[in-house]
Amino acid sequence: MGRNYTLSAILRGLLVYLLPFVLAGWYLDVVWQALALALLLKLCWHYYYINRLTGWLWDSRTLLPPMGKGVWTDIFDGIYRTLRRNQVRQRSLSTLIKRFRQASEAMPDAAVVLKEDGTVTWANKLAQLYFGLQWPGDNGIRITNLIRHPRFVKFFKKGDFSQAVTMHSPAHASMEVEVRVMPYADNQFLLIARDVTQLTKLERMRKDFVANVSHELKTPLTVMQGYLEMLDEPELLPAKQLHKAIHDMTAQTARMQNMVNQLLELSRIESSGPDSFTEEVDMAALIRSCVHDVSLLNSEKQHRIEVSLDEHLSVYGSADKLRAVVMNLLTNAIKYSPAGGTINLTWQRRHLAAAFSISDTGPGIEPEHLSRLTERFYRIDADRNSATGGTGLGLSIVKHALEHHRSRLQIDSKVGQGSRFSFVVPAELIVQAKADAT
Ligand code: ADP
Repeated sequence: MGRNYTLSAILRGLLVYLLPFVLAGWYLDVVWQALALALLLKLCWHYYYINRLTGWLWDSRTLLPPMGKGVWTDIFDGIYRTLRRNQVRQRSLSTLIKRFRQASEAMPDAAVVLKEDGTVTWANKLAQLYFGLQWPGDNGIRITNLIRHPRFVKFFKKGDFSQAVTMHSPAHASMEVEVRVMPYADNQFLLIARDVTQLTKLERMRKDFVANVSHELKTPLTVMQGYLEMLDEPELLPAKQLHKAIHDMTAQTARMQNMVNQLLELSRIESSGPDSFTEEVDMAALIRSCVHDVSLLNSEKQHRIEVSLDEHLSVYGSADKLRAVVMNLLTNAIKYSPAGGTINLTWQRRHLAAAFSISDTGPGIEPEHLSRLTERFYRIDADRNSATGGTGLGLSIVKHALEHHRSRLQIDSKVGQGSRFSFVVPAELIVQAKADAT
């Protein structure tokens, strides 16, 4: 719709409207009265349309303008066009905001939009979860009143956002979050937080691991160094001492070698690719071969090893990993039980699954240690157990190897009565053909 009425057109229209009144007034000799009447009628006409305009703008629910005449057609059309334009702009803006919110919700990070004064304008669901924010309840509240962790408050007040700050989540004490603040647009701030619990844990584990390995290697190396210094002049050493030096150094070397081998085994198990479960493992044969392999170790303590095996119960898995499991549990039972004990090994069906257990008549384990035994380098009594050549890695290897078979190590023990280590291989890993033949 184009604009029809220019100023000259309006004036021309007014003249055309007034002319009949002037002519009639001139004819009746009441020119001024006729002119006044014409103007009064025009005024009333305008008031009528002003009334319709205000009715449309304030009371009407529709955007469509009322029908107008003359100049009012242009006024109504003009306003209608402006309203339409605003409506379209508003719609595209709210679509944009909706998209931004959807994108922020899809992000794996918590996001909070802040104004210049630090008040919250918007927060996504993860922000509500990480910081316990409530939306829209916390709209307009200062972020430092909502996240009161001293490190965050200091960081925010300082205003230097070049670095991130890490802290415990106010809503979940066990969660560590890394918070970054980025200025954007017209003095707005975007606060982004991500869950770094796992990352921090891994970093701590890495540090602990390096510290543990260094510590474990230090003792044998110090012993070796001491002896090597003594051996500088071997002719001065009495034969008995020389013999002891060689014996101790051999033992320490074996200890270091054992540790390196176990570390390699652990790293091999941890870094092995996705489990394929195509290899069939004859567990009965594997267990028997392990019992045979430890006979030399057992020769000193002479434990009675009793075995009760289901000969037809094979599983899908890795023979190497399952062998590591059985060997570690068996050598532990032999190492930690006093001479002449009884070790009981069973491999039996349990419903559709298969259960392995090894029990000994050893000293047993205090309850407070049970949950920590599978941690790397964890030993109950490091001094006492160093004589056994233990590294504290055996049960960690067992745990990881079992995880690759969707299984978990169960430890039951009573001090003075012995220990029982067991695990269940789930039904889906049991080789059915052989199992069903029984
Ligand atoms: P290590 O190399 O020291 O044997 P493990 O991870 O195999 O490491 O075992 C961790 C600790 O658990 C051992 O130091 C030992 O104290 C305890 N332990 C393991 N098996 C037994 C058992 N059968 N009886 C008593 N204690 C055991």
